[in-house]
Amino acid sequence: MNATLQSWLTENLQALKDQHLYKVPRILETPAGGRVRMNGREVVNLSSNNYLGLANHPKVVEAARKSIEEWGVGAGAVRWIGGTMKVHDELEERIAKFKNVEAVLVFTSGFTANSGCIPAVLTSDDVVISDELNHASIIDGVRLSPAEYRKSEGWVYGHKDMNHLEDILKRAGNFKKRMIITDGVFSMDGDIAPLPEIVALAEKYDAFVMVDDAHASGVLGRNGAGTTSHFNLYGRVDIQLGTLSKALGVVGGYIAGSRLLKEWLINRGRPYLFSTALPPMVAAALIAALDIMENDPEPMNRLWDNAKWWKESLASLGFDTMGSETPITPVYCGEEEKAVRMEQMLWEEGVYALSICYPTVPRGRARIRTMPSAAHSREDLEFALEAFKKVGRSLGVIPSTAEV
Ligand SMILES: *Cc1c(COP(=O)(O)O)cnc(C)c1O
Repeated sequence: MNATLQSWLTENLQALKDQHLYKVPRILETPAGGRVRMNGREVVNLSSNNYLGLANHPKVVEAARKSIEEWGVGAGAVRWIGGTMKVHDELEERIAKFKNVEAVLVFTSGFTANSGCIPAVLTSDDVVISDELNHASIIDGVRLSPAEYRKSEGWVYGHKDMNHLEDILKRAGNFKKRMIITDGVFSMDGDIAPLPEIVALAEKYDAFVMVDDAHASGVLGRNGAGTTSHFNLYGRVDIQLGTLSKALGVVGGYIAGSRLLKEWLINRGRPYLFSTALPPMVAAALIAALDIMENDPEPMNRLWDNAKWWKESLASLGFDTMGSETPITPVYCGEEEKAVRMEQMLWEEGVYALSICYPTVPRGRARIRTMPSAAHSREDLEFALEAFKKVGRSLGVIPSTAEV
């Protein structure tokens, strides 16, 4: 072991601990669900993205099992070298139809879809104009590209600030291409991007739009087809990213757009070119998950029923859910210490809900992030609400006189 590296690691791990940024994942001892056992404790889990409960839906599991029996467990190679199977093509065709676009290219995760697509469509003659609250995988994708984007140079706009976006577009006329990129649903706040306004500005200033719908897939739009569907902007959003790992319950990501875009990414998307294809059982499970999303409205209805009940109940107790419009429901705490303490106390009450602090969100805007889902029964959420009431009162997050 190199001593310099070892001491560097020790020092920097200690620094993370000192700043309360050190992470220790808890261990799930049961399948992902609304109520789980974690680190030996039964808890209501409010920190999963399994929106529709598809991660262990019997039909999805059965599709994976049948695929394993027929095809084994691995694809064996990157897609273009010999890893593309019929089931990969079928999955892409199914998603393209679902999203109502010409073509879809699947990657092994949403993260790699961002880091593959963004640098592939940009050169040093271009500029990226990005919402300040965009997801880390967008930021990494942008960093991998040679295009101009730095915040210090003014190419990042205030969260959903359309006047700011327009000011930037007015200054960006000299670049060859202008890309506006935004989360469809913001992952830490649960609010929705003003996509109609973004698209209108893009059309006015000759920019193209990429929307990351990781948290909108399965949640917004027709059968969960995302923000483009939600706002009826078909044909006006150039690049849509989706994940197959959240509402769809398995793993993977995709880029949806034109046939030319797909053709380009097959040739220039580096994670597509250099990372092994998804296992065929994953693709088969995802086709089964899509079948459910397209034909059974029940999981999405239950998701929204639960989300509305959860938000209204929290608000009636006096909690601030920070303008969330989707199932992602932040519960505002403010100071980092208060959020961390609240997470610990909720855990002791049998509720797993993670605190989210700086640098994931701005300093002084710490929160507990909750994710009600179709996998929760109303009893699960009632149980969690009691815990929030008790802990919120004791920490002074809500007034102690609040009534349900
Ligand atoms: C989770 C997430 C991703 C990454 O998707 P994975 O499939 O989990 O890699 C990308 N963008 C946003 C906004 C996300 O929330």
